[in-house]
Amino acid sequence: MEKILNYINGVFTGPAGGTFFDNINPATGRVYSYVPDSDERDVEAAAAAAEKAFPSWASRPARERSEILERIAALIERDKDNLALAESVDQGKTIASALALDIPRAAANLRFFAGAILHFSSAAHQTDNAALNYTAYSPVGVVGCISPWNLPLYLFTWKIAPALASGCTVVAKPSELSPMTAFLFCSLCDEAGLPPGVLNVVHGYGHKAGQAIVDHPLVQAISFTGGTETGKKIAASAAPRFRKLSLELGGKNPNIIFADADMEEAVRTTVLSSFSNQGEICLCGSRIFVERSAYDSFLAAFIEQTRKLVVGDPRSSQVNVGALISHKHMEKVLGYIELAKKEGGEVVCGGKQLQPQGDCSTGFFVEPTIITGLSHSCRTNLEEIFGPVVTIAPFDSEDEVVAWANAPSYGLSATIWTQNLNRAHKVSARIKAGVIWINCWLLRDLRTPFGGMKQSGVGREGGFDALRFFMDTKNICIRL
Ligand code: NDP
Repeated sequence: MEKILNYINGVFTGPAGGTFFDNINPATGRVYSYVPDSDERDVEAAAAAAEKAFPSWASRPARERSEILERIAALIERDKDNLALAESVDQGKTIASALALDIPRAAANLRFFAGAILHFSSAAHQTDNAALNYTAYSPVGVVGCISPWNLPLYLFTWKIAPALASGCTVVAKPSELSPMTAFLFCSLCDEAGLPPGVLNVVHGYGHKAGQAIVDHPLVQAISFTGGTETGKKIAASAAPRFRKLSLELGGKNPNIIFADADMEEAVRTTVLSSFSNQGEICLCGSRIFVERSAYDSFLAAFIEQTRKLVVGDPRSSQVNVGALISHKHMEKVLGYIELAKKEGGEVVCGGKQLQPQGDCSTGFFVEPTIITGLSHSCRTNLEEIFGPVVTIAPFDSEDEVVAWANAPSYGLSATIWTQNLNRAHKVSARIKAGVIWINCWLLRDLRTPFGGMKQSGVGREGGFDALRFFMDTKNICIRL
């Protein structure tokens, strides 16, 4: 069985402690590869390599860094089938969705920041006739990039592409649950001519290898995407050292559907925003609010379309919904369905674990689940479930739905469905979330600021914001 290896100073290597743990295929529940159980010794070696590589990488012309990123993107595109298969086996998502979303987006991340760094500019401020100030940017040095399991290569590259483009060197850790494509990616970096030490990838547990990255004295900035509780721990560790932090955390996103919406489109897209990637996308909408006069017809159409989703073997082109990431996560999702029932909810679609035929009978599958009859303030409607489970409720007024939408401690994204653009603007302004989609979902422009409010995070990724995060800013004032 394949052993995943760390990638340190351009060399594939086992962990210092010599131990590996099991990597499980979520669709079968069986071990299919082994992951290095890295610790602070591996992070030490990775940080030292990154520190050594930094001066030469940072001083390379942006054009050269950009060309290397472009070459890596081209190699991802060349290997897209292999990477999509690997992502599916490692994560449980369907091969079709990895091919349509994850892998193309990973290539797009590299291409986007390869271009962005060539267009990055700074400002000058003239102080009357007395002085000229200009803003100078320089890469911060070695940075830590820590990514979650739901969109493995997509989110891994979303962090390391701007870091590398800006001239930083990286110590990265993908999630222990889905490390395979980050491992394969390192070979592509090698092939593309990325110099040794510029990207170092250390695999292992978050509390061990991840924490060692956060705590390492050479690591100047930490870009983290994951759960809010982990984000709090990382923030607490980094704060006394005054490290730069970007935290992209959990969500409990509302979908607000007014009666004047294009209902066909609203239903179709809400099925996608509820159950794509098994509901394991931080931007999935998990609370649906429909204006009362349209509620019954929306609910009927929504249930009908959800029932058509095929759950099962992620390799099959007939399947829409694959496996959840782990047994533990499946238990958590099923636990929330039980909680919803105790809180007075009625399961009107799905609600159970599913055991497909064949070798997937031991995998981690849950039916797409729709729950009605819950109050906006119950735990099911306030806590992140991160699975194929949504609640739906009618609302009577704009004020009411805005209050419900804003009730959780999260504030990542929201969708608003209405033909009345005036109302769409007004409601958008009142929703506490970093990303609002009007009459659409997951329509992304990589130049736009991306991130959450409240407990959904700190800082913004995307566009020049991402490049600036990995740079120090200096004002230089010249007396005229
Ligand atoms: P976790 O917070 O459990 O883990 C994220 C990463 O952090 C993993 O690589 C994990 O390693 C690592 N980690 C865990 N503990 C520490 C630590 N003490 N120090 C450093 N690193 C650590 O999140 P999940 O992987 O479970 O991802 C799901 C979460 O991510 C959801 O809450 C989801 O909403 C959020 N998310 C947010 C997005 C956004 O853009 N806002 C996008 C996608 C997901 P290990 O896996 O080994 O524990």
